[in-house]
Amino acid sequence: MFSPDLVILNVHLATMDEEIGNGYGAIEDGALFIKDGKIEWLGKMAELPEFDALATPTVQGKGAWLTPGLIDCHTHILFSGSRAQEFEQRLNGVSYQEIAAQGGGIASTVRATRQADKEALFVLAKTRLNSLLKEGVTTAESKSGYGLDLENEFKLLEVNRLLDEHHPISVQSTFLGAHALPPEYKGNADGYIELVCEQMLPKVAKANLADAVDVFCENVGFSYTQTRKVFEKAQSLGLPVKCHAEQLSNQHGSELVAEFSGLSADHIEYLDESGVKAMARAGTVAVLLPTAYYFLRETQQPPIQLLRNNNVPMALASDFNPGTAPLCSLRLVLNMGCTLFRLTPEEALKGVTINGAKALGLKDRGVLKVGMRADIAMWNIDHPSQLSYQFGVNDLLNLWILGKLTQC
Ligand SMILES: [Zn+2]
Repeated sequence: MFSPDLVILNVHLATMDEEIGNGYGAIEDGALFIKDGKIEWLGKMAELPEFDALATPTVQGKGAWLTPGLIDCHTHILFSGSRAQEFEQRLNGVSYQEIAAQGGGIASTVRATRQADKEALFVLAKTRLNSLLKEGVTTAESKSGYGLDLENEFKLLEVNRLLDEHHPISVQSTFLGAHALPPEYKGNADGYIELVCEQMLPKVAKANLADAVDVFCENVGFSYTQTRKVFEKAQSLGLPVKCHAEQLSNQHGSELVAEFSGLSADHIEYLDESGVKAMARAGTVAVLLPTAYYFLRETQQPPIQLLRNNNVPMALASDFNPGTAPLCSLRLVLNMGCTLFRLTPEEALKGVTINGAKALGLKDRGVLKVGMRADIAMWNIDHPSQLSYQFGVNDLLNLWILGKLTQC
């Protein structure tokens, strides 16, 4: 006899389990048992196993849908300051160059983030995580990258660990020291990369502050060769790598991250076929970020059909950041993935569940399956496609993280 901690009855399940085979890995008219923070059993109501019905807390789903808790696998939630006035200046005709000359752009975010202490950054990030939680997000990645010196990058990564400990959302920490060139290293990108590799990375690894290492490989970021140096160092320290790649041009960052068996190549609007094939061989996930594409009013589409043809797993994420994607909503991302990039709603939902987990190297979540973490969202919807179709109506009924009901 089963002895679950919680039983959820009369629900439909979008398990996202590829072994189930039909769309969304759906089980209609089903039920699910939770025990010790994990999924103990799931299946059809008609096959419900025996359990102590009097002693077990029970939720009546009344035909609601369950999905895995959503996963936002690419965010920059750790920053201080606002770029709203720059947004306004731009719309009043001031050029990006003029704004940069006034100390605006990413430099202003770096200044404000360096000035903020850990407590202030924690509170800012917590508010942003709360917004994601309200939409059913149970795991989020958080990158450093607005500190750009040892002390401030450390500070950001320490806040990531504090968020993971104190916020209901499970927070994965990514070190993005090679995000942009700090003002002190103007004209000396190689010197900064040496600082990242020789000073920052060993200390970050030793203090166990990062779960992965990321680089912005772009003609306005770091070169292919500089990116390779960071990846080599990360690999020697046992840290998995990922890459901001092919966003504005094709620098072959995706092939490079695949060469290092990297977790993901992110953005990839300018990815070509050889990059797609390299990712397919390495099992590197394609992380699509439609918010940045939308906010920058880009027109180059990521090669969705090529990715499909080569069975490259596609994830979707918010990329929430003050410069190019000030949009802290994974539900909006689901919709944009379909409207802007023409993903199917099932691909979109996979992108924020099973493939979001893959992009973070996490094997214990993203699917409703026996033994997985009981990170579960319950939705007041008629069909899982509604999660991508409709935006702005909060149809989340309940959210469990590690089997605990979360107030959101
Ligand atoms: Zn990003």
